[in-house]
Amino acid sequence: MSKVIILLMVMGITGCSKAVQTTSIVTVPKTEVIAPVQVEVPQIVTTEHVVSAADQKDAAAAVINNVKKEGLRVALTFDDGPDEKYTPRILDILKKEQVKATFFVVGEHAKQHPQMMKKIVDEGHAIGNHSWDHLNLAQAATDKIQSEISSTDDVIKQITGVAPKLFRAPYGAVSPQVVKESQGSGHQIIGWSVDTLDWDGKSVAQILANVRKEVSPGAIILQHFAGGKHGDLNNTVQALPQIIAYLKQKGYTLVTVPELISAK
Ligand SMILES: [Zn+2]
Repeated sequence: MSKVIILLMVMGITGCSKAVQTTSIVTVPKTEVIAPVQVEVPQIVTTEHVVSAADQKDAAAAVINNVKKEGLRVALTFDDGPDEKYTPRILDILKKEQVKATFFVVGEHAKQHPQMMKKIVDEGHAIGNHSWDHLNLAQAATDKIQSEISSTDDVIKQITGVAPKLFRAPYGAVSPQVVKESQGSGHQIIGWSVDTLDWDGKSVAQILANVRKEVSPGAIILQHFAGGKHGDLNNTVQALPQIIAYLKQKGYTLVTVPELISAK
């Protein structure tokens, strides 16, 4: 059997609640990768999944991780919900602080919690597509990628009347096909430049320290509004007012991702 060298990235901390091991087709921001190791493995992946380094680089370049423009703007983003436990608490904090954020929604969770979806939109936040069931789309067949994106768009539109124009890949894992299908269906692909690692059970102090260390003008900050390690996002909720206070104190205006992108 012919063999290829495939860069295996061990993705224990990829911004989501489930760790996956994946092949060279996957990209994540540099800070997410613990230790890339080169391993020789048999070519067992399908042709669809063999991607040249150049094509993978192009796919990674299609992801908007931050938006560098004049002015001190940052965007808070939340993934994997909605739910009934943490979503209302996060929404209440944002309302109290008069901050608008961006929520990347998992389709099946939207279907389960339509009232939360309506509340998010009613309170002025932006919505993005985060796949139907948080599948690693970089390892999925083309028709599966299409259905994951379209079914999520459909349920969001059905419930809220809003057609999502943003897409964030589960685990931040993009392949050329994920880029083609998500952009082809009218989405901008959004990543992040600040990973709070809230989903990993980090303490409130650690979450805040991650923001302080990594934030810069135009940053997109990743947090979660459902899921988390052992289903616990209490630290996310507790850290949020402190994150907002810190960013405001540093002079940042907190905007949605569409506002960040369209700012002059
Ligand atoms: Zn996610």
